[in-house]
Amino acid sequence: MTDGTASDGVVDVLVVGAGPTGLLAAGLLARSGISVRIIDKNTSAAKETRAFGVQARSLELFASLGLADAMLDRGLVATGVQVFAEGERVAELSFDDIAPNDTPYGFLLMVSQSEIEAVLVDDLARLGGTVERGTEATALDRDADAVTVHVHDASGSEAAIRARYVIGSDGAHSTVRKALGLSFAGATYPQTFLLADATVRWPLGSDRLSLFMRGSGFAAFLPLRGRDYARVMVVDPTEASSGAPLAQGSSPVELDVVERAFRHSTGLDVTLSDPRWLSRYRVHHRGVDRYRVGRCFVAGDAAHIHSPAGGQGMNTGLQDAANLAWKLAAVIRHGAADALLDSYHDERWPVGQAVLAQTDRMFSAVADPSGWVVALRKVLAPAVAATLTRIAPLRNRAFRFVSQLGIRYEPGRFLAEETSEGASSRWRDGPGPGRRAPDAATGRHRDVFDLLAGYRFHLLALSREPLSREDIDGLSAELAGFVRDCPAPAEAHLVAHSLVGRDERLVQAESARVFDAYGIGPGTPRGLYLIRPDGYVAWRTDSLDVTACRRFVERVFAPGSPGAGRAVRLPPTPEHAR
Ligand SMILES: Cc1cc2nc3c(=O)[nH]c(=O)nc-3n(C[C@H](O)[C@H](O)[C@H](O)COP(=O)(O)OP(=O)(O)OC[C@H]3O[C@@H](n4cnc5c(N)ncnc54)[C@H](O)[C@@H]3O)c2cc1C
Repeated sequence: MTDGTASDGVVDVLVVGAGPTGLLAAGLLARSGISVRIIDKNTSAAKETRAFGVQARSLELFASLGLADAMLDRGLVATGVQVFAEGERVAELSFDDIAPNDTPYGFLLMVSQSEIEAVLVDDLARLGGTVERGTEATALDRDADAVTVHVHDASGSEAAIRARYVIGSDGAHSTVRKALGLSFAGATYPQTFLLADATVRWPLGSDRLSLFMRGSGFAAFLPLRGRDYARVMVVDPTEASSGAPLAQGSSPVELDVVERAFRHSTGLDVTLSDPRWLSRYRVHHRGVDRYRVGRCFVAGDAAHIHSPAGGQGMNTGLQDAANLAWKLAAVIRHGAADALLDSYHDERWPVGQAVLAQTDRMFSAVADPSGWVVALRKVLAPAVAATLTRIAPLRNRAFRFVSQLGIRYEPGRFLAEETSEGASSRWRDGPGPGRRAPDAATGRHRDVFDLLAGYRFHLLALSREPLSREDIDGLSAELAGFVRDCPAPAEAHLVAHSLVGRDERLVQAESARVFDAYGIGPGTPRGLYLIRPDGYVAWRTDSLDVTACRRFVERVFAPGSPGAGRAVRLPPTPEHAR
């Protein structure tokens, strides 16, 4: 990251809003050698917990950036979830039993949004960036070459920032979204939530999430780091459900009010003390119809807001950022076609819509106050919970959705494969284009995710057939040539059985898991995977044809139409930023 502004006074990317989405986007762009500025209207970082559940997919992303340990240091590993209906425990799920074995993060990490933001701010600082606080975007003008963002800065003056591209990650009330005229269709739920981050004394354990349905009431206990420290959330049982819409978290509430409501909705003897954050808020579900308008993008809460059911909000924003940043870098720095930027909307909008629909279903199932739903819940909740407890594939599917490991993008121009007719069914069932690259052991102490470090492309060459010295010579030369000629930063890894023992040019496969996870086996003993910086398979073939991969990369990075993304001269990405 430079001082943020190129010599012509136009910054490559202006990020508006330094919540988790904007901070991650800025860090990823800086890593990619893009000049980026990030502004936030608040004069200081937020102190409130707000979101707290970091899902497995986000942890995988943080791990690839070297940030997972910092998150784990600050968090509590939640081991499972228990569900109560009308005072009876109807389900108890341990994440150990549910989580698939293709992720190192088969749990939910409870860490406050303020701490996540602090880690991302530190990361940005390491890359030479800083958040320009007290700077509020008020309006924007777009022309063919750039976007002018009008700001009210910390000194109280009006100023303008010219940027080639703008990311609006300015939250639920996004100025960028409004300035772009994007609709934000949806509604506000009728319930009012009460929330307290406090010390909780109660008869149940404190390492699991606990959900309570009682009559028309709903409550949740969500453990946070620290002895007996937790977030409790409860639908206000006293308030009429049709008040004027409040902004989320906008109104204060007394601790004893939350305590009373929580006791009422759990039927338990609970004492709350030492509150660190108290809030009364309404929940909305809304989404934009377009994530891109010309040179402007919306991401995170600016693009979608939904109920906290399933802890999806912040995680979805983080994945928006990871999806968009490398595409912007490819267009700005490496001359990729402008159409690549459209794939941000094409890929992330359906994910946002699915999250909206699923969280709405979950929320309505547990918190809808209407009489027939309450009546049905009494009968259905135990049955659904029992089914979920009994049937492993159902549990697994639920975990894949909530953890965001199951997200897949539709194949198209930028997501493709060249699979031969005779490819095995194991290969066909393997991670095709648009699917997340899974983790798997390559040996006793190493796994695929050790190789996929850094926000860059990775070419993974896999051979279950043992390779001779000549094979290794030829393949490693081809892979090195691919890395050298790839327009964007890339690394190549050859994982194979070897006829000559360990060789520094390959990762000797000392476990078959890596092959199983990537569909390599009888009938398809070899395969080549190109994995994108955000961890999704961009392209694959059931051979070791590196030339075919080069052809695909040429297509992705083919120069765009006139006036579209153009390569700008930038200093090479510094080593420490890689
Ligand atoms: C009370 C409350 C409880 C929540 N609980 C949960 C939860 O339990 N689980 C969960 O997953 N999510 C929860 N969320 C939602 C979660 O906090 C969001 O999904 C997440 O913060 C989205 O991150 P973001 O970066 O997209 O937006 P935000 O975190 O909202 O960040 C937007 C940033 O933009 C800045 N900004 C706004 N306008 C401008 C402007 N014009 N110019 C410059 N800067 C601007 C703001 O100051 C802010 O820093 C909760 C939110 C609230 C308010």
